[in-house]
Amino acid sequence: MKIRVLGSGHSGGTPMIGEGWGNADPKNPKNYRTRPSIVVENDKTRILVDTSPDLRVQLLAANIEHIDAVLYTHGHADHLNGIDDLRSVNRAMNEWIPAYTDAKTWSDIVNRFNYVLEPLKNDTNVFYKPCLKRNDITVGQQFEIGDFCIGVMDQDHGFMRTLGYRINQFAYSTDVVELPEESFKTLNGIDTWMVGALWEEPHITHAHVDKVINWAERVEPNRLILTHLSHRIDYETVSKRLPEFAELAYDGMILEL
Ligand SMILES: [Zn+2]
Repeated sequence: MKIRVLGSGHSGGTPMIGEGWGNADPKNPKNYRTRPSIVVENDKTRILVDTSPDLRVQLLAANIEHIDAVLYTHGHADHLNGIDDLRSVNRAMNEWIPAYTDAKTWSDIVNRFNYVLEPLKNDTNVFYKPCLKRNDITVGQQFEIGDFCIGVMDQDHGFMRTLGYRINQFAYSTDVVELPEESFKTLNGIDTWMVGALWEEPHITHAHVDKVINWAERVEPNRLILTHLSHRIDYETVSKRLPEFAELAYDGMILEL
């Protein structure tokens, strides 16, 4: 399986409006970060996790025009608001796209983008809007998409809960500040773990770099990838101080498992 980081940035992206590049060296292309989303795929199946506001640019850069399923972690704007760009994927595929998330996130989607679930008007088969097929999942559930076995984890994001996903031997945990014991069990035996780490100082809704490294010392993945990085993270500077098993994500990064 292959994982492609479409966006490795936090909600503001790097550079960020009003705050620019922060600590990040503008000369290093790995510091240019769009909003968070990833693609997980094998020869048969391609899964998109979250639809960031930069989705159009990300899918064009990755040359992606076919998606078998979308998983949503939660309804925050930086993870959801690119949903409209799925319309072009519907058109390219000439099909509806199955989407999976919990009841809370579906209610966010229905409140803000209800049209994605509505039937096409007048029996047209022209995708004039994004078209998603709703699938409800819950924490602790396991289900399959193609050959992928997916486990759903509960995560504490400060003022709300988010979903983490284990996909075969890979897991994606973004927008998390505390992990319940049950979720550590779901992570047992994974090979590669991609985790949101906002910056180097503690934060109330996001884990910071050292906190994620402490979690990883317990989970013991072969590889730890830190993502959802803000403009306060300079790729070169922070990479240097990470333990051997850990690396920073960057836009366009590809992992093979
Ligand atoms: Zn969030």
